[in-house]
Amino acid sequence: MGSGNRAKARVKVARVQARIADRRTDFLHKVTTRLVRENSLVIEDLAVSNMVGNHHLARAISDAGWRQFRRFLEHKASWHGRDVIVIDRWFPSSKLCSACGALAAAMPLHVRAWICGCGAAHDRDVNAARKILAAGLAVTVCGAGVRPQRNPPGGQSVTKQKTLRRGRRNPPRS
Ligand SMILES: [Zn+2]
Repeated sequence: MGSGNRAKARVKVARVQARIADRRTDFLHKVTTRLVRENSLVIEDLAVSNMVGNHHLARAISDAGWRQFRRFLEHKASWHGRDVIVIDRWFPSSKLCSACGALAAAMPLHVRAWICGCGAAHDRDVNAARKILAAGLAVTVCGAGVRPQRNPPGGQSVTKQKTLRRGRRNPPRS
């Protein structure tokens, strides 16, 4: 068992990892293309860098390829003339009841399901998605400037990103 074998093993591992990364990128391309063709989009601006610093979350979030997902989404949205609406990371999507609008006191990450005082039973992620979609629709209908809650000073809670058309790169003939 010399270092030669170890080096070979390392190369093998690197190859497998590259294959996984390729497949993940391919998957993200398919998903983002489909999403952008069908819809304008509302996404939550998660503090990925902060969360990746959290040992327990790092794996899940890095594996999900969130940053790459968002990059693909924004790029493709601009090609298809779709809006990407970004919901501020401080918007308490997980804590707001999508049925009655009440704000739960605390929602530690291990809580995957909860019941609001109004009686509505929620899956954490489904409830959050509903709130994010509702906030995004409010922006679409009312324009930017909808501020669901607790703005960071000077910041906007919900922003509608201007999408660049591909015409910018290849100016239209006219
Ligand atoms: Zn409720």
